Amino acid sequence: MAKTPTPKEILRIDHRPPKTGWMDTPVRFKPGTWCYPGSKDALEYLGYPNIRDWMPTDEDWKLPENWKEIILEGMADRLDKYRSFKVFMDICVRCGACADKCHFFLGSGDPKNMPVLRAELLRSIYRREFTKAGKLLGRLAGARELTTDVIKEWFYYFYQCTECRRCSVFCPYGIDTAEITMMARELLHLLGININWIMTPVANCTRTGNHMGLQPHTFKENIEYLCDDIEEYTGIRITPSFNRKGAEVLFVTPSADVFAEPGIYTCMGYLLLFEHIGLDYTWSTYNSEGGNFGLFTSHEQMKKLNAKIYLEAKRLGVKWILGGECGHMWRVIHQYMDTLNGPADFLEVPVSPVTGTTFENAASTKMVHISEFTADLIKHGKLRLDPSRNAGIVATFHDSCNPSRAMGLLEEPRYILKNVVPEFHEMPENTIREQTFCCGSGTGLNTDEFMEMRMRGGLPRANAVRYVHDKYGVNRLACVCAIDRATLSTLMDYWVPEVTVSGVSELVGNALVMEGEKKRETNLRGEPLAGTEGESDV
Ligand code: SF4
Ligand code: SF4
Repeated sequence: MAKTPTPKEILRIDHRPPKTGWMDTPVRFKPGTWCYPGSKDALEYLGYPNIRDWMPTDEDWKLPENWKEIILEGMADRLDKYRSFKVFMDICVRCGACADKCHFFLGSGDPKNMPVLRAELLRSIYRREFTKAGKLLGRLAGARELTTDVIKEWFYYFYQCTECRRCSVFCPYGIDTAEITMMARELLHLLGININWIMTPVANCTRTGNHMGLQPHTFKENIEYLCDDIEEYTGIRITPSFNRKGAEVLFVTPSADVFAEPGIYTCMGYLLLFEHIGLDYTWSTYNSEGGNFGLFTSHEQMKKLNAKIYLEAKRLGVKWILGGECGHMWRVIHQYMDTLNGPADFLEVPVSPVTGTTFENAASTKMVHISEFTADLIKHGKLRLDPSRNAGIVATFHDSCNPSRAMGLLEEPRYILKNVVPEFHEMPENTIREQTFCCGSGTGLNTDEFMEMRMRGGLPRANAVRYVHDKYGVNRLACVCAIDRATLSTLMDYWVPEVTVSGVSELVGNALVMEGEKKRETNLRGEPLAGTEGESDV
């Protein structure tokens, strides 16, 4: 594993362009900036093509003999099938409005990380092979030959894009570079080129229902361990149900909430909330993953993993689905679910059993975000909350890319936070809401061998956190995404170690005053309540 440079070293960002033009500058696989290929076991299990031993640093990538034909046929298929792909290949006017909007460009200075140039890596082949101008004029028309160096470049730079869509917010034509990255990754899959941090979770999720490959009994036991902790801290014993047919609601959340810190504290928050309102819900030990790494793989894979949630809802006969704090799960639900597997007409339009609110926004997907659900409860005065239990926490909110840009979930988490923590401050306006900066490790890039690039890509986010830490004393970065909870923790340790990371529901769980609870002396992390010496003022 490559040694990660120090923050001081990373801050020396080299913005000088290379001496040669971009078409003539081959990719250099520097340690810390690329990910390991998919494991043979995972790929065999999934039935992917061209499985072999290879490493990005090898000269010979052992591509199939007809690799060029495979790529060009794959491109032709997709240009025909996905209108957006064809449009995005044609309409960029290279205005440059997106150029400085990508966190990987800002943190690395590498021009090929400018969204416009990232897309040109693919567009130049499209022009050469699928347009008259490119065929006749070649380079003059921005076209180039498809070579093995181009394939290597695609692998390097399309796995240095977190599909965050920040660049698309600034594009006057609405070009979504994330969708271009998705297409490039699909094409690379045809040659057996992919990364392990995505393919192993996809294989696990297909086999056992979650990214970690947890068996149903382990999944159930993990949640019961969390109930033990809740009982220790609050005196309340919660006994959630699993695979219960006829429950009103199926609850689905990323498996990281069930087995990894700090997600487990968020999960304890959900458990307390549902107990507080007496929700008639069930977990599923088979559909034990909200995350959908199919989004980072291919449309077919995304469709399969999304279908799992709905098939389980059908099997259990629930009315609607409540989803936990996840990022890309919501992008799949809001942007793709309806055409992949929907509309879910066998379910009912979600109605809160506590407030009577109808979630019209989920009329087709039948799936409600936990922040929408919780904010509605607070708005109707249905939760007994004591923000002083979060005393000492000065919070800010990180808009995760997918809930903010893909589903417009901007106000609800903020509204919740302002009701459960004593002090809240926003980061600068151009770094939040639709313009939020990515954690730098999304789309399956949160792997250790990629650490230098992660810390570079996370620098703009970390800068904004540093700003509010220095100005207001912010010490807690709240978010509603399981990947972010993991990646921002690493990012904060590196850039702003004074700040810890948590889910919004964890802070709700701390503040909830449960009927019959014992005097709380700790928060859900088992840490003594700050400033109260164990005294609750409720
Ligand atoms: S989608 Fe995000 S990571 Fe990808 S090019 Fe655009 S800004 Fe960069
Ligand atoms: S902002 Fe849009 S049109 Fe302008 S260079 Fe970027 S992708 Fe092309």
